[in-house]
Amino acid sequence: MSTPVKPIKPIMVVVDDDPQVLAALRRDLRTRYRESYAIAGAASGEEAISTFRELKARGETLAIVISDQRMPGIQGTEVLAQLREIYPLARRVMLTAYSDIDAAVRAINVAHLDHYLSKPWAPPEECLYPVIDELLDAWQAEYLPEARGLRLIGHQWSARSHEIKDFLAGNLRPYHWVDAARAPEAQVLLDSVGIGADDLPALFFEDGTALRNPEPRQVAERLGLPLSAAHELYDLVIVGAGPSGLAAAVYGASEGLRTLLLDRHAPGGQAGSSSKIENYLGFPSGVSGSELTRRAVSQAQRLGAEFLVPIEVTAVSIDGGYKHLTLGDGRQIVARTMLAATGMEYRQHAAPGVADHTSAGVYYGAATTEAPAFKDRKVLVVGGGNSAGQAAIHLARFAAEVQIVIRRQSLQDSMSRYLIDQIEKTPNIRLRHSTALARVEGNGQVERVELTLDGGVSDVEEIDAIFVFIGTKPRSEWLPDGVLRDDKGFVITGRDLPSDARYPRTWKERREPMALEASTPGVFAAGDIRAGCMNRVASAVGEGSMVVRLVHEYLALT
Ligand SMILES: Cc1cc2nc3c(=O)[nH]c(=O)nc-3n(C[C@H](O)[C@H](O)[C@H](O)COP(=O)(O)OP(=O)(O)OC[C@H]3O[C@@H](n4cnc5c(N)ncnc54)[C@H](O)[C@@H]3O)c2cc1C
Repeated sequence: MSTPVKPIKPIMVVVDDDPQVLAALRRDLRTRYRESYAIAGAASGEEAISTFRELKARGETLAIVISDQRMPGIQGTEVLAQLREIYPLARRVMLTAYSDIDAAVRAINVAHLDHYLSKPWAPPEECLYPVIDELLDAWQAEYLPEARGLRLIGHQWSARSHEIKDFLAGNLRPYHWVDAARAPEAQVLLDSVGIGADDLPALFFEDGTALRNPEPRQVAERLGLPLSAAHELYDLVIVGAGPSGLAAAVYGASEGLRTLLLDRHAPGGQAGSSSKIENYLGFPSGVSGSELTRRAVSQAQRLGAEFLVPIEVTAVSIDGGYKHLTLGDGRQIVARTMLAATGMEYRQHAAPGVADHTSAGVYYGAATTEAPAFKDRKVLVVGGGNSAGQAAIHLARFAAEVQIVIRRQSLQDSMSRYLIDQIEKTPNIRLRHSTALARVEGNGQVERVELTLDGGVSDVEEIDAIFVFIGTKPRSEWLPDGVLRDDKGFVITGRDLPSDARYPRTWKERREPMALEASTPGVFAAGDIRAGCMNRVASAVGEGSMVVRLVHEYLALT
């Protein structure tokens, strides 16, 4: 490395064999970031990789690496792929000539680029700084210095520990997980505040105080998340903060509606649990569910939407056009219009032993939260859809072996090609087709599974965890009877309503229902909860955005 760096600041590294480009980029970065970051340079891929290793050995923090692609010896793609192994959180940017964009796009899959930057990057105020600012924001949101921040001490196989981990991760609060059984030094910390083994998990805050065996709501209170609505009456209350609810909150607030968004667990919904969404418009290198959520929540709040979490809506009654929503703690909120955006949840797997081990080695859609706990272990993914594919690829970064179990003969009809390709290229993923999970066994934690192959042969395998991604069901049980649903529970809306036999008894308006309106006037449904939905982030976002226009039309009628 050509320049010594100050150890206390996080580091940015520029890699380029062309001394002029290297100097110019470092100069531009220094101009803007030198107060908070040290800017280092490396003149070759080999030098860069040994720099990453040195920095790691010294315990330094690396925030971002910008590497040229075409260099003699080790090329940019390889530099960034190696960086990902050494500093998984550091942002990876490839510098390319405009004509070399094809190479950058190919490199996205190998090095999991966060961005590619075309040369020249002038003026930096337009072409460089906005990109780096965003990447640093995203890095800051995930990065947590070792000695600081929240520490959660608990047992890996405890349901409450899993619940709190999932709550913190879902609400984008970085934390250090300490498995009490594997870190004897945790006892010292627990003793210091008098917390015994029966009181785990314990959540420690930076000031040394701790919550013992807390519920998510207590954690939310302690973190200062608002739990009470600021107003008596809202123009629009959105139930569910997945992509559709978040999009509705952004449009509702930006168009002047008094908008309240509620979620029982965390923002982001199913998409929030995705390790990488590769097909959402505008993110050529893909975007993690947590990053998309972080951006959407801050956008909605900046525009004026109120957001309360964890708040569950348990029932709704309609009175003279007003929607009275009952919350889990018995309080009520009143709205002129309401959007049901509560999406779907995974079906429970019926095999014997699964229910007994839920959160103790059996997890539903929680691959991103639990993956690090299964480093070097053997895990099973049950299901052959895109979500199962993403989870398997993510888990393979940590686990020694990931087995995907599917009943079908191949993934062909259930998973997108780009995921199948990645799975085929990942050596520690094994596909077990024509196979079903028949039984889970263990003593307080998953220890082994019985798999049944087509033809009835059984196979018993030692396994440390099972991630279940089988069929989903809509979360619509909280809606009133007047909101018609199909036989699977999906909410029927718009033009699909008149053909339902129950419609004449239910819909009493002179007008037809609007596009995303349910059979109760002023109640809308968007995203995965809606009959006929597309089960995509983009369609959920599209429907959530559309609803706001329809809300305006409805309010103009009343
Ligand atoms: C792991 C995974 C990966 C995926 N990857 C992709 C992808 O790459 N590309 C793609 O296009 N799609 C992907 N999908 C599908 C996509 O995420 C969904 O289609 C999308 O999230 C649906 O959004 P939604 O807003 O309708 O509902 P959801 O995302 O299901 O959100 C519903 C929200 O409602 C909340 N809620 C439920 N009940 C209540 C209640 N009673 N009170 C208050 N809140 C409640 C939930 O906590 C949740 O946050 C993926 C899904 C999963 C699970």
